[in-house]
Amino acid sequence: MVQRQVPFFNYRALFEAQEQELTAAVVDVMRRGAYILQQDLADFEKRLREFLGVKYAFGVADGTNALIIALQAAGIGRGDEVIVPSHTYVASAASIHLAGATPVLVECRDDHMIDPAGVRAAITARTRAIMPVQLNGRTAAMDEIMAIAGEHELKVIEDAAQALGSRFRGRFAGTFGAAGTYSFYPAKLLGCFGDGGGVVTNDDAMGERLALLRDHGRDSQGEVVSWGTNSRLDNLQAAILNVKFRSFAADLERRRRLAAMYDEGLRDLAELLLPPAPDADPDHHDVYQNYEIEAERRDDLKQHLEKHGVRTIIQFGGKAVHQYPGLGLGGYRLPRTELLYRRALLLPMNTSLSDADVEYVVGCIRGFYGRS
Ligand SMILES: *Cc1c(COP(=O)(O)O)cnc(C)c1O
Repeated sequence: MVQRQVPFFNYRALFEAQEQELTAAVVDVMRRGAYILQQDLADFEKRLREFLGVKYAFGVADGTNALIIALQAAGIGRGDEVIVPSHTYVASAASIHLAGATPVLVECRDDHMIDPAGVRAAITARTRAIMPVQLNGRTAAMDEIMAIAGEHELKVIEDAAQALGSRFRGRFAGTFGAAGTYSFYPAKLLGCFGDGGGVVTNDDAMGERLALLRDHGRDSQGEVVSWGTNSRLDNLQAAILNVKFRSFAADLERRRRLAAMYDEGLRDLAELLLPPAPDADPDHHDVYQNYEIEAERRDDLKQHLEKHGVRTIIQFGGKAVHQYPGLGLGGYRLPRTELLYRRALLLPMNTSLSDADVEYVVGCIRGFYGRS
Protein backbone atom coordinates (compact mmCIF):
# COMPACT_ATOMS: atom_id res chain seq x y z
CA MET A 1 0.00 0.00 0.00
CA VAL A 2 1.21 3.48 -0.86
CA GLN A 3 1.45 5.69 2.23
CA ARG A 4 -1.31 8.32 2.55
CA GLN A 5 -2.04 11.12 4.97
CA VAL A 6 -5.55 10.84 6.38
CA PRO A 7 -6.18 13.70 8.81
CA PHE A 8 -8.90 13.24 11.43
CA PHE A 9 -10.62 16.40 10.21
CA ASN A 10 -9.72 18.82 7.44
CA TYR A 11 -11.01 22.35 8.09
CA ARG A 12 -9.14 23.77 5.15
CA ALA A 13 -10.56 21.31 2.63
CA LEU A 14 -14.04 21.94 3.99
CA PHE A 15 -13.69 25.69 3.42
CA GLU A 16 -12.08 25.35 0.00
CA ALA A 17 -14.87 23.09 -1.22
CA GLN A 18 -17.30 26.03 -0.89
CA GLU A 19 -14.93 28.98 -0.77
CA GLN A 20 -16.79 31.27 -3.16
CA GLU A 21 -20.26 30.82 -1.68
CA LEU A 22 -18.99 31.12 1.88
CA THR A 23 -16.91 34.22 1.19
CA ALA A 24 -19.81 35.87 -0.62
CA ALA A 25 -22.14 35.20 2.32
CA VAL A 26 -19.69 36.67 4.84
CA VAL A 27 -18.98 39.78 2.76
CA ASP A 28 -22.70 40.31 2.22
CA VAL A 29 -23.39 40.28 5.99
CA MET A 30 -20.53 42.69 6.64
CA ARG A 31 -21.64 45.10 3.89
CA ARG A 32 -25.07 45.17 5.52
CA GLY A 33 -23.61 45.49 9.01
CA ALA A 34 -26.14 42.87 10.09
CA TYR A 35 -24.66 41.16 13.15
CA ILE A 36 -27.09 40.42 15.98
CA LEU A 37 -30.62 38.94 15.68
CA GLN A 38 -30.82 39.77 11.98
CA GLN A 39 -32.46 38.24 8.90
CA ASP A 40 -29.88 35.50 8.29
CA LEU A 41 -30.51 34.16 11.78
CA ALA A 42 -34.29 34.31 11.24
CA ASP A 43 -33.81 32.46 7.93
CA PHE A 44 -31.62 29.84 9.58
CA GLU A 45 -34.11 29.29 12.39
CA LYS A 46 -36.88 28.84 9.81
CA ARG A 47 -34.75 26.28 7.92
CA LEU A 48 -34.07 24.40 11.13
CA ARG A 49 -37.80 24.39 12.03
CA GLU A 50 -38.71 23.09 8.58
CA PHE A 51 -35.94 20.49 8.47
CA LEU A 52 -36.94 19.03 11.86
CA GLY A 53 -40.66 19.69 11.61
CA VAL A 54 -40.74 21.52 14.95
CA LYS A 55 -42.66 24.56 16.13
CA TYR A 56 -39.78 26.56 17.65
CA ALA A 57 -36.06 26.70 16.84
CA PHE A 58 -33.55 29.19 18.22
CA GLY A 59 -29.97 29.76 17.17
CA VAL A 60 -28.02 30.27 20.38
CA ALA A 61 -24.44 30.87 21.51
CA ASP A 62 -23.29 27.23 21.47
CA GLY A 63 -24.42 23.71 22.27
CA THR A 64 -23.56 24.01 25.95
CA ASN A 65 -25.59 27.20 26.35
CA ALA A 66 -28.45 25.55 24.49
CA LEU A 67 -28.52 22.83 27.16
CA ILE A 68 -28.35 25.30 30.05
CA ILE A 69 -31.26 27.42 28.83
CA ALA A 70 -33.26 24.32 27.86
CA LEU A 71 -32.94 23.04 31.44
CA GLN A 72 -33.80 26.49 32.82
CA ALA A 73 -36.81 26.81 30.53
CA ALA A 74 -37.99 23.40 31.76
CA GLY A 75 -37.82 24.70 35.34
CA ILE A 76 -34.96 22.44 36.41
CA GLY A 77 -32.67 23.79 39.11
CA ARG A 78 -31.62 23.54 42.76
CA GLY A 79 -32.40 20.26 44.48
CA ASP A 80 -33.23 18.45 41.24
CA GLU A 81 -31.44 15.44 39.80
CA VAL A 82 -31.02 14.89 36.07
CA ILE A 83 -29.98 11.49 34.68
CA VAL A 84 -27.31 11.62 31.96
CA PRO A 85 -24.92 9.03 30.51
CA SER A 86 -21.30 9.19 31.66
CA HIS A 87 -20.13 8.51 28.11
CA THR A 88 -20.60 12.05 26.87
CA TYR A 89 -18.84 15.36 26.53
CA VAL A 90 -18.40 17.06 29.90
CA ALA A 91 -20.74 19.82 28.64
CA SER A 92 -23.83 17.61 29.05
CA ALA A 93 -23.19 17.11 32.77
CA ALA A 94 -21.83 20.65 33.21
CA SER A 95 -25.04 22.18 31.87
CA ILE A 96 -26.98 20.33 34.59
CA HIS A 97 -24.55 21.54 37.26
CA LEU A 98 -24.63 25.11 35.93
CA ALA A 99 -28.45 25.08 35.92
CA GLY A 100 -28.14 24.39 39.68
CA ALA A 101 -29.15 20.71 39.55
CA THR A 102 -27.18 17.48 40.13
CA PRO A 103 -26.08 15.24 37.25
CA VAL A 104 -26.62 11.53 37.97
CA LEU A 105 -24.43 9.46 35.66
CA VAL A 106 -25.47 6.16 34.10
CA GLU A 107 -24.17 3.46 31.77
CA CYS A 108 -24.29 3.11 28.05
CA ARG A 109 -24.98 -0.02 25.97
CA ASP A 110 -22.93 -1.69 23.24
CA ASP A 111 -24.16 0.90 20.70
CA HIS A 112 -22.68 3.56 23.07
CA MET A 113 -26.09 5.10 23.76
CA ILE A 114 -27.68 5.64 27.19
CA ASP A 115 -28.83 2.37 28.83
CA PRO A 116 -32.56 2.54 29.72
CA ALA A 117 -32.03 -0.07 32.49
CA GLY A 118 -29.40 2.24 34.01
CA VAL A 119 -31.86 5.12 33.85
CA ARG A 120 -34.53 3.13 35.69
CA ALA A 121 -32.11 2.12 38.43
CA ALA A 122 -30.96 5.73 38.95
CA ILE A 123 -34.38 7.26 39.57
CA THR A 124 -34.90 8.78 43.04
CA ALA A 125 -37.52 11.04 44.61
CA ARG A 126 -35.49 14.02 43.37
CA THR A 127 -35.18 12.99 39.72
CA ARG A 128 -36.79 15.61 37.49
CA ALA A 129 -35.40 14.90 34.05
CA ILE A 130 -33.52 12.54 31.75
CA MET A 131 -30.90 13.89 29.35
CA PRO A 132 -30.27 11.23 26.69
CA VAL A 133 -27.20 12.08 24.64
CA GLN A 134 -27.68 11.30 20.95
CA LEU A 135 -24.02 10.46 20.48
CA ASN A 136 -22.02 9.86 17.30
CA GLY A 137 -25.01 10.65 15.08
CA ARG A 138 -27.20 7.90 16.55
CA THR A 139 -30.44 8.31 18.49
CA ALA A 140 -30.96 6.33 21.71
CA ALA A 141 -33.81 3.85 22.19
CA MET A 142 -36.25 6.71 22.64
CA ASP A 143 -39.30 4.42 22.95
CA GLU A 144 -37.88 3.06 26.21
CA ILE A 145 -36.63 6.45 27.43
CA MET A 146 -39.97 8.16 26.77
CA ALA A 147 -41.84 5.30 28.46
CA ILE A 148 -39.71 5.65 31.60
CA ALA A 149 -40.16 9.43 31.54
CA GLY A 150 -43.92 9.01 31.21
CA GLU A 151 -44.17 6.54 34.10
CA HIS A 152 -42.19 8.78 36.46
CA GLU A 153 -43.35 12.18 35.14
CA LEU A 154 -39.84 13.22 34.15
CA LYS A 155 -38.92 15.82 31.56
CA VAL A 156 -36.69 14.76 28.68
CA ILE A 157 -34.06 17.22 27.48
CA GLU A 158 -32.13 15.70 24.56
CA ASP A 159 -28.49 16.55 24.00
CA ALA A 160 -28.50 16.08 20.21
CA ALA A 161 -25.27 18.11 19.74
CA GLN A 162 -23.90 15.24 17.63
CA ALA A 163 -27.10 14.15 15.95
CA LEU A 164 -28.79 16.76 13.75
CA GLY A 165 -30.59 14.67 11.13
CA SER A 166 -30.43 11.37 13.04
CA ARG A 167 -33.76 9.58 13.48
CA PHE A 168 -35.37 6.89 15.62
CA ARG A 169 -38.50 5.32 14.11
CA GLY A 170 -38.71 8.22 11.68
CA ARG A 171 -38.53 10.93 14.33
CA PHE A 172 -35.57 13.32 14.53
CA ALA A 173 -33.13 13.34 17.44
CA GLY A 174 -33.91 16.41 19.51
CA THR A 175 -37.67 16.35 18.90
CA PHE A 176 -38.87 13.71 21.40
CA GLY A 177 -38.92 15.54 24.71
CA ALA A 178 -39.50 18.99 26.22
CA ALA A 179 -36.53 20.36 24.26
CA GLY A 180 -33.60 19.23 22.14
CA THR A 181 -30.27 20.91 21.53
CA TYR A 182 -27.64 20.95 18.77
CA SER A 183 -24.09 22.19 18.41
CA PHE A 184 -22.73 23.92 15.32
CA TYR A 185 -19.11 23.67 16.51
CA PRO A 186 -16.95 23.58 13.34
CA ALA A 187 -16.41 19.80 13.33
CA LYS A 188 -20.03 18.92 14.08
CA LEU A 189 -22.40 17.54 11.41
CA LEU A 190 -23.50 21.08 10.53
CA GLY A 191 -20.55 23.27 11.49
CA CYS A 192 -20.07 27.03 11.45
CA PHE A 193 -16.75 28.89 11.70
CA GLY A 194 -16.77 29.37 15.44
CA ASP A 195 -19.14 28.51 18.27
CA GLY A 196 -22.83 28.07 17.62
CA GLY A 197 -25.78 26.08 18.89
CA GLY A 198 -29.49 25.51 18.56
CA VAL A 199 -32.42 24.61 20.78
CA VAL A 200 -35.81 23.37 19.58
CA THR A 201 -39.18 22.57 21.10
CA ASN A 202 -42.78 21.88 20.13
CA ASP A 203 -44.13 23.26 23.40
CA ASP A 204 -45.54 26.82 23.33
CA ALA A 205 -44.61 27.68 26.92
CA MET A 206 -41.07 26.30 26.43
CA GLY A 207 -40.77 28.25 23.18
CA GLU A 208 -41.76 31.48 24.90
CA ARG A 209 -39.34 30.95 27.78
CA LEU A 210 -36.46 30.05 25.45
CA ALA A 211 -37.05 33.20 23.38
CA LEU A 212 -36.79 35.30 26.55
CA LEU A 213 -33.86 33.39 28.07
CA ARG A 214 -31.63 33.77 25.02
CA ASP A 215 -32.07 37.56 24.79
CA HIS A 216 -31.95 39.16 28.24
CA GLY A 217 -35.58 38.41 29.05
CA ARG A 218 -36.75 40.86 26.37
CA ASP A 219 -40.07 40.32 24.64
CA SER A 220 -40.75 41.14 20.97
CA GLN A 221 -41.25 44.81 21.93
CA GLY A 222 -37.80 44.91 23.56
CA GLU A 223 -39.34 45.16 27.02
CA VAL A 224 -37.59 43.20 29.80
CA VAL A 225 -40.22 40.86 31.24
CA SER A 226 -38.06 38.24 32.98
CA TRP A 227 -34.45 37.30 33.75
CA GLY A 228 -32.47 36.14 30.76
CA THR A 229 -28.97 35.86 29.37
CA ASN A 230 -27.12 36.62 26.17
CA SER A 231 -27.21 33.48 24.03
CA ARG A 232 -27.70 34.49 20.40
CA LEU A 233 -26.16 32.75 17.40
CA ASP A 234 -24.15 35.39 15.49
CA ASN A 235 -25.90 36.46 12.33
CA LEU A 236 -22.59 35.95 10.51
CA GLN A 237 -22.46 32.32 11.64
CA ALA A 238 -26.12 31.92 10.69
CA ALA A 239 -25.32 33.16 7.16
CA ILE A 240 -22.53 30.56 6.95
CA LEU A 241 -24.88 27.83 8.19
CA ASN A 242 -27.47 28.84 5.58
CA VAL A 243 -24.85 28.07 2.91
CA LYS A 244 -23.91 24.78 4.58
CA PHE A 245 -27.54 23.75 4.90
CA ARG A 246 -27.83 23.54 1.07
CA SER A 247 -25.67 20.42 0.96
CA PHE A 248 -26.56 19.09 4.40
CA ALA A 249 -28.77 16.18 3.27
CA ALA A 250 -26.10 15.08 0.78
CA ASP A 251 -23.41 15.44 3.48
CA LEU A 252 -25.32 13.10 5.78
CA GLU A 253 -25.75 10.56 2.97
CA ARG A 254 -22.02 10.71 2.32
CA ARG A 255 -21.31 9.96 5.99
CA ARG A 256 -23.65 6.96 5.84
CA ARG A 257 -21.84 5.72 2.74
CA LEU A 258 -18.44 6.06 4.46
CA ALA A 259 -19.80 4.17 7.48
CA ALA A 260 -21.02 1.39 5.16
CA MET A 261 -17.52 1.19 3.65
CA TYR A 262 -15.90 0.89 7.09
CA ASP A 263 -18.47 -1.74 8.01
CA GLU A 264 -17.91 -3.80 4.88
CA GLY A 265 -14.15 -3.59 5.28
CA LEU A 266 -13.95 -4.40 9.00
CA ARG A 267 -16.96 -6.43 10.08
CA ASP A 268 -15.20 -9.82 9.95
CA LEU A 269 -12.58 -8.73 12.52
CA ALA A 270 -13.46 -10.27 15.91
CA GLU A 271 -10.99 -7.87 17.55
CA LEU A 272 -13.33 -4.94 16.84
CA LEU A 273 -16.78 -3.83 17.96
CA LEU A 274 -18.14 -1.59 15.20
CA PRO A 275 -21.01 0.91 15.38
CA PRO A 276 -24.28 -0.48 14.00
CA ALA A 277 -24.16 -0.37 10.18
CA PRO A 278 -26.38 2.16 8.34
CA ASP A 279 -28.87 -0.53 7.31
CA ALA A 280 -28.55 -2.72 10.43
CA ASP A 281 -31.87 -1.78 12.06
CA PRO A 282 -34.85 -0.07 10.38
CA ASP A 283 -35.65 1.75 13.67
CA HIS A 284 -32.41 3.71 13.46
CA HIS A 285 -31.31 6.23 10.84
CA ASP A 286 -27.76 7.08 11.97
CA VAL A 287 -25.81 9.98 10.48
CA TYR A 288 -22.32 9.17 11.81
CA GLN A 289 -21.06 12.36 13.43
CA ASN A 290 -18.34 9.95 14.49
CA TYR A 291 -17.33 6.39 13.70
CA GLU A 292 -16.53 5.12 17.19
CA ILE A 293 -15.16 1.59 17.29
CA GLU A 294 -13.96 -0.51 20.21
CA ALA A 295 -10.70 -2.31 19.55
CA GLU A 296 -8.49 -4.89 21.20
CA ARG A 297 -4.99 -3.46 21.81
CA ARG A 298 -6.47 -0.05 21.13
CA ASP A 299 -3.39 2.01 22.04
CA ASP A 300 -1.12 -0.10 19.80
CA LEU A 301 -3.65 0.16 16.96
CA LYS A 302 -3.77 3.96 17.38
CA GLN A 303 0.03 4.11 17.20
CA HIS A 304 0.14 1.81 14.17
CA LEU A 305 -2.36 4.03 12.33
CA GLU A 306 -0.44 7.17 13.32
CA LYS A 307 2.74 5.64 11.90
CA HIS A 308 0.90 5.05 8.63
CA GLY A 309 -0.40 8.63 8.40
CA VAL A 310 -3.90 8.00 9.78
CA ARG A 311 -4.99 10.33 12.57
CA THR A 312 -7.49 9.00 15.10
CA ILE A 313 -8.91 10.41 18.32
CA ILE A 314 -10.09 8.94 21.62
CA GLN A 315 -13.31 10.81 22.20
CA PHE A 316 -13.58 13.33 25.07
CA GLY A 317 -9.89 13.12 25.95
CA GLY A 318 -10.17 9.43 26.88
CA LYS A 319 -12.27 9.85 30.03
CA ALA A 320 -15.92 9.41 30.92
CA VAL A 321 -17.51 12.19 32.96
CA HIS A 322 -17.31 10.18 36.22
CA GLN A 323 -13.56 9.74 35.67
CA TYR A 324 -12.70 13.45 36.16
CA PRO A 325 -11.70 13.80 39.84
CA GLY A 326 -11.95 17.61 39.59
CA LEU A 327 -15.71 17.49 39.16
CA GLY A 328 -16.28 15.98 42.59
CA LEU A 329 -18.71 13.39 41.28
CA GLY A 330 -16.79 10.49 42.88
CA GLY A 331 -17.97 7.06 43.83
CA TYR A 332 -19.31 5.85 40.52
CA ARG A 333 -18.55 2.41 39.13
CA LEU A 334 -19.77 2.12 35.57
CA PRO A 335 -18.01 -1.00 34.21
CA ARG A 336 -19.43 -0.92 30.66
CA THR A 337 -18.47 2.72 30.23
CA GLU A 338 -15.03 2.12 31.76
CA LEU A 339 -14.43 -0.82 29.39
CA LEU A 340 -15.44 1.41 26.49
CA TYR A 341 -12.85 4.02 27.44
CA ARG A 342 -10.09 1.39 27.43
CA ARG A 343 -11.12 0.27 23.93
CA ALA A 344 -12.76 3.20 22.11
CA LEU A 345 -11.26 4.91 19.09
CA LEU A 346 -12.68 7.39 16.57
CA LEU A 347 -11.69 6.64 12.99
CA PRO A 348 -11.64 9.55 10.50
CA MET A 349 -15.26 10.36 9.55
CA ASN A 350 -16.02 13.53 7.63
CA THR A 351 -17.18 14.70 4.22
CA SER A 352 -13.64 15.55 3.07
CA LEU A 353 -12.67 11.84 3.01
CA SER A 354 -12.40 10.05 -0.31
CA ASP A 355 -13.35 6.41 -0.85
CA ALA A 356 -9.64 5.70 -1.26
CA ASP A 357 -8.93 7.27 2.15
CA VAL A 358 -11.39 4.90 3.82
CA GLU A 359 -10.02 1.89 1.90
CA TYR A 360 -6.55 2.87 3.08
CA VAL A 361 -7.63 3.15 6.74
CA VAL A 362 -9.38 -0.24 6.46
CA GLY A 363 -6.21 -1.74 4.95
CA CYS A 364 -4.04 -0.37 7.77
CA ILE A 365 -6.38 -1.78 10.44
CA ARG A 366 -6.52 -5.18 8.74
CA GLY A 367 -2.73 -5.15 8.49
CA PHE A 368 -2.42 -4.44 12.22
CA TYR A 369 -4.50 -7.51 13.08
CA GLY A 370 -2.59 -9.65 10.56
CA ARG A 371 -5.36 -9.89 7.95
CA SER A 372 -5.24 -9.16 4.26
C1 LIG B 1 -20.18 19.34 21.10
C2 LIG B 1 -21.03 18.79 22.20
C3 LIG B 1 -21.65 19.61 23.16
C4 LIG B 1 -21.38 21.06 23.33
O1 LIG B 1 -21.49 21.82 22.22
P1 LIG B 1 -20.66 23.19 22.08
O2 LIG B 1 -21.28 23.84 20.90
O3 LIG B 1 -19.23 22.84 21.89
O4 LIG B 1 -20.88 23.97 23.35
C5 LIG B 1 -22.50 19.01 24.07
N1 LIG B 1 -22.72 17.69 24.07
C6 LIG B 1 -22.12 16.87 23.20
C7 LIG B 1 -22.41 15.41 23.24
C8 LIG B 1 -21.24 17.39 22.25
O5 LIG B 1 -20.62 16.56 21.40
